[in-house]
Amino acid sequence: MVRRDEVRNGEKTVTMPETPDAGVVFIGRIHTPWTDRLTCPRLGRMDGPICRIEIFEPWVDALKGIDEYERLEVLYWLHQSRRDLILQSPKNDGIARGAFSLRSPVRPNPIGTQNVKLVRIEGPNVFVQSLDCLDGTPLLDLKPDRDLFTPIAPRQTGDDETRNAAS
Ligand code: SAM
Repeated sequence: MVRRDEVRNGEKTVTMPETPDAGVVFIGRIHTPWTDRLTCPRLGRMDGPICRIEIFEPWVDALKGIDEYERLEVLYWLHQSRRDLILQSPKNDGIARGAFSLRSPVRPNPIGTQNVKLVRIEGPNVFVQSLDCLDGTPLLDLKPDRDLFTPIAPRQTGDDETRNAAS
């Protein structure tokens, strides 16, 4: 799996659909010290190295207001991951778990998310701590950390609904 794309004892692959259901746009690129999956942190830490998130045009104006938040949520595309491994053995001991029970980079849609500390913004560059991805990882999205964000638009009925069962 993540080590070198191998399939280990007890793991299971599936055939991926030939056509995707939706597309994404890479809005930037993440610059980190790590060039190898074997040395990259498994989960970033808030006192980790300062990394640079470069936003591409025409998306730079979308940074307006982001400096109000001490922490951000970063979503990125783990572009070196295989996508077909649904049972995985993280310890390589023959015991497999489902991809959705792990934060493994190997998943049908290899989206990584990380809460990071905002250090500073310089033009199209957002400097943060706590990332855990390879240098050159494509950026999907940036949002305020959910714990710091209060919706700015007026409340709507669903905001006050509780205990309704989904059909
Ligand atoms: N924090 C994210 C999350 O929880 O969704 C990612 C966690 S994932 C366990 C981090 C690991 O993914 C790294 O240790 C590295 O092995 C691998 N990785 C990092 N960047 C990657 C990339 N661009 N493509 C594939 N694998 C990557």
